[in-house]
Amino acid sequence: MRYSKLLLPTTKETPAEAEVISHKLLLRAGFIRKLTAGVYTYLPLGLRALQKVSQIVREEMNKAGAQELLMPMVQQGDLWRESGRWQKYGAELLRFTDRHDRDFCLGPTHEEVITDLARRELLSYRQLPTNLYQVQTKFRDEIRPRFGLMRGREFVMKDGYSFDVSDEAAETSYKNMYEAYHSIFNRCGLKFRAVEADTGSIGGSFSHEFMVLAETGEDTLVICEQCNYAANVEKAAIVSPEDNRDPKGELFDMVEVKTPGMKKVERVADFMSVVPSDIIKTMVYLADGEPVAALVRGDREVQLVKLKNMIGADEVEVVDDSTIYDMTKLPVGYLGPVGLPLKVAVDQEVMQMVNCVSGANKKGCHLKGVNPGRDFTPDFVGDLRQITTEDACPTCGGALSLTEGIEVGHIFKLGTAYSEAMNATFQDKEGGEKPFVMGCYGIGVSRVIAAAIEQNNDKNGIIFPLPLAPFQVIVLNLGLKDEKITTAAEQIYQELLAQGIEVLYDDRDERPGSKFKDADLLGIPFRVTVGKVFAKEGKVEMRLRRTGETSTISLKEAADFIVQTIGTELAVSK
Ligand code: ATP
Ligand code: MG
Repeated sequence: MRYSKLLLPTTKETPAEAEVISHKLLLRAGFIRKLTAGVYTYLPLGLRALQKVSQIVREEMNKAGAQELLMPMVQQGDLWRESGRWQKYGAELLRFTDRHDRDFCLGPTHEEVITDLARRELLSYRQLPTNLYQVQTKFRDEIRPRFGLMRGREFVMKDGYSFDVSDEAAETSYKNMYEAYHSIFNRCGLKFRAVEADTGSIGGSFSHEFMVLAETGEDTLVICEQCNYAANVEKAAIVSPEDNRDPKGELFDMVEVKTPGMKKVERVADFMSVVPSDIIKTMVYLADGEPVAALVRGDREVQLVKLKNMIGADEVEVVDDSTIYDMTKLPVGYLGPVGLPLKVAVDQEVMQMVNCVSGANKKGCHLKGVNPGRDFTPDFVGDLRQITTEDACPTCGGALSLTEGIEVGHIFKLGTAYSEAMNATFQDKEGGEKPFVMGCYGIGVSRVIAAAIEQNNDKNGIIFPLPLAPFQVIVLNLGLKDEKITTAAEQIYQELLAQGIEVLYDDRDERPGSKFKDADLLGIPFRVTVGKVFAKEGKVEMRLRRTGETSTISLKEAADFIVQTIGTELAVSK
């Protein structure tokens, strides 16, 4: 491709709207332009990068035995009523009506459509397992679209769905996708981890998120330094502590203490001469609109996804004190479990506390000598708190560290949730009707580009992993008016093209400085410069974007080196 003919509007200025590096660089390098909040046009280079990711995804999905299809983006509300999600999905589902006043939505995901297809077309166990996928535009009316391609409202996803005869068969399909996802992200040249993720109400270890490790990740992961345990903090299990209570230890009576103005754990601890771990912290959240209390030790934090799963809620929200007060008339800041007129969920650790301190449910008052079990009985007990680096690895007991990650993929065993709700069945060997056991498998194709850039950049711009680079080589012509230079630049451009290499030929009438700057910004792995040295010595300069390594070699050597290196690197990643 000739740069002079390409719509590739690079800029020096960092756009004010962009916060994270991938968003800044995608705009500066002329890959994307915003149409409206969370909705982007892919310019030619952005599209090429997107196609690189989708191509890898397609090849590996096909290799794993999945079949590509393409489903509609517009879906009828009635189908979503069948699964129960028309009511449940919330505001991310963009709903509208057609001219006949019938309900429709833009697909944020395609479980309903694929389950409908399966119940019509997959009639017998002989057709199973079947794994179907698409690469398609999704729309989710995200509350906070941000970070460019990282969290858009319109974005490109690969979504796949497996249909099996039984649980065991579905687990085989799941493992097959687990392997395929490893191949996909390895081939993309990304550093990633598969982490156990929250399975909501389904349970079991059949949900993994694929996380690209990068500082700007929206998710926090916990990783074991000894074994290969890795989990999202939303899920990371905390080993139940040993019960060290002395069975003969004295249990004090409860006493009320005046603590005016002391709402914070540290203040109360100071005043009562105890440590935060002697205090029960009582937090109130809205679970499906109802206030519920969550109790953890004073030095711990509540993990909201764990709370949601423990009490079986669809949604748990953090709300401010005044909202809670308006709803309950309870003295927020002085709450405690004794006599609290709310549903109470308690962290397992709290149940082993002895003679501790909590709020008294009375303004300006706390209680001391509180003993769980004796003074209050919780509605739910379990693992409720956020894991920390002081905790031990739940698998091997080793030390844990926390890191940020960007979720680029998610695989999930769905079981029969959709097939039962939508009456999607097949005829089994014995002639009976059985619901499909399903799995679903997503990859944020457009998000992968953002994640790759977050992980691979420097002060000069993007450093594309070779498999995702929109062009593999950029040839700079620094002597447009010099016939010798121009002939040589054209020659290597044509030679590389003939060898199947993707080359951008910078034939613009620009100063060398801006050509170098643009080449760095675009992150193209190989740069070949044909300039003065060629006029003098018949040599070109070759530079590797990632390492900055430079060498001065002949045209032929340059072409051979590039063809060979690209061939080997892409073959290794396959
Ligand atoms: P998140 O927690 O980031 O909102 P999700 O759990 O809603 O993700 P899934 O429904 O599992 O995501 O979608 C599959 C994949 O699609 C995700 O792993 C992610 O890579 C991508 N994805 C989800 N939402 C967006 C978005 N708003 N913009 C870009 N990619 C997205
Ligand atoms: Mg989401």
